[in-house]
Amino acid sequence: MSFTIQNVLVAVDQGYATVDVQIVDNHIQAIAPNLDVVGTVIDGQNKLLLPGFVNAHTHSSEMWQRGIIPPVPLELWIAELYDFAPLEPDQVYLSALGTAVETLLSGGTSVVDHLVLIPGKEIETIASAVRAYQEIGIRAFIGPLIQDESLTAGIPDGGAQREHKTYVRSTEATLALMQEAVDKFHNPSEGVNILVAPTGIQLCSDALFEGCRELSDRYNLCRHAHLLETKAQEKLAQEKYGCSAVEHLKQLGYLSDRTSLAHCVWLSDNDIAILAETRSTVVHNPLSNLRLGSGIAPILKYRQAGVNVSFGCDGAASNDSQDLLEAIKIGSILHNITDMDYHHWITPRESVEIASLGGAKGLNVADELGSLTEGKKADLVLYDLTSLSLLPRTDPIGLLILGRPTQAVDSVWVNGKRVVADSKVTTIDVDALRKNLFERSEWSINRQSATVSQIEAHYRGVMGLPEQLSKSYS
Ligand SMILES: [Zn+2]
Repeated sequence: MSFTIQNVLVAVDQGYATVDVQIVDNHIQAIAPNLDVVGTVIDGQNKLLLPGFVNAHTHSSEMWQRGIIPPVPLELWIAELYDFAPLEPDQVYLSALGTAVETLLSGGTSVVDHLVLIPGKEIETIASAVRAYQEIGIRAFIGPLIQDESLTAGIPDGGAQREHKTYVRSTEATLALMQEAVDKFHNPSEGVNILVAPTGIQLCSDALFEGCRELSDRYNLCRHAHLLETKAQEKLAQEKYGCSAVEHLKQLGYLSDRTSLAHCVWLSDNDIAILAETRSTVVHNPLSNLRLGSGIAPILKYRQAGVNVSFGCDGAASNDSQDLLEAIKIGSILHNITDMDYHHWITPRESVEIASLGGAKGLNVADELGSLTEGKKADLVLYDLTSLSLLPRTDPIGLLILGRPTQAVDSVWVNGKRVVADSKVTTIDVDALRKNLFERSEWSINRQSATVSQIEAHYRGVMGLPEQLSKSYS
């Protein structure tokens, strides 16, 4: 597939330049003014071309629970989430499509789906997400979400010596499932990548982390996990290991230059040094961290320590959207209140680099993706600078990152294939998707979570909160 984008604005060291961009065989062949036309001509006038961003952490099927879970912290939120009836594979397919549409129309060309598996239908779940991402044409990194400990084990004991149920699936069976997922679906040349993705130290044994690390080594898979999202997890790690979660993951050999870790809110300076030394990536999910009251990840410290950072939306039940530009904006300006020294604050151009190259580094594909560089793959986004939300004309990247762009994405190419044109997804029928999402759901209020009422008293006690009857959220 070959085409030439003519007279398009691109960022250069000092400001912007108007250039032509030749794409040949799915790669960027040349970027310069007045190039010969190869293939189809795309008019780039009054448009800005940027590398595609990476939505570096989400859970697509949470789309079915967006907007409904009350404002509670992660440990109670996840109990709420578990109480919903399991989905069907066709719903997983629809929410993966919905996640991809929102990601594409907010500048993303890759999505990391930490995919919640339907019990007993695990391979079908993955197959449904793979089918959705291949149909729509987004680059997919799917990390089947696995654990081998029960939900209550994720809350610190605080000396209570609680017993936990055995998890429904053994460690061995879970690793066998991952092997099957790799055999069936891992196909980077077709834009589908399987990641190993134990959910995190709060619900996973050492054996599960070690088994995942071995699979990752054998098949060169990226590694993913949640890490120290909440204060409760920091306490839990001390109870469980007698050291920090980061020190423990380092001992297990899980940290590497192809390991990306979602959240990283509660890390010490020593932990940060370990992430830098192991060249691990932090995925910043600012909206989820705000929504769940988890805290503010020390992103400026990570950057100063040389730790690679990328942006994620996190699942739509804790965000409650998949708008990547929104996550990038909040994830950039949030840190201005954490450090008086404005020299450390993130500039709009740095935000673009974190979202694109930072995302690519975290997935071990920075040599192929993440910047407008000759020879790299054509994962590109063209922004319409005549959109009302980007007017009047000032600095295009400033408008895009600090503003509130609406309908600003004109076109998207993934691996040289155009998947958005004239601000519309071309590969699937979005009206049919809307109809399906509408018909498979209903207006819903007054939920009461049985699991939350079982664990809330213990949670409040161990976190030092006053004893109190459950609040009604209706
Ligand atoms: Zn998550």
